[in-house]
Amino acid sequence: MKSHRKELWFETRERRKLINITPQVEQVLSESGIKEGLLLCNAMHITASVFINDDESGLHQDFETWLEKLAPEKPYEQYHHNGYEDNADAHLKRTVMGREVVVAVTGGRLDLGPWEQIFYGEFDGKRKKRVLVKIIGE
Ligand code: ZN
Repeated sequence: MKSHRKELWFETRERRKLINITPQVEQVLSESGIKEGLLLCNAMHITASVFINDDESGLHQDFETWLEKLAPEKPYEQYHHNGYEDNADAHLKRTVMGREVVVAVTGGRLDLGPWEQIFYGEFDGKRKKRVLVKIIGE
């Protein structure tokens, strides 16, 4: 069995941003040479997510509106966590949107459904953060 590991780095100018990382993940898979197996992709930070959904701008606005209803950024003092930090909302948003995805690798390609795309969800940006890609197979 082969395994391949790579970290992808992101630094957004905005506090919150959704980035389609499918091309970068496909590139890592290509580098690995693995044709059959499983690919894990996870955020390495507790205020960011990796998830799979549609690359449609209206839906991305809907995610922002929905997450702000569930866990509004402000007022900061509404959260117990916000003493030295102001990112309690980002921890909650990350938990709702998920930590990782696992995608089957078939014939050297990501075995995604027709509209499935992999996203990095940043909820407390403006600093460098990492995503791990780990692939096992042969
Ligand atoms: Zn925090």
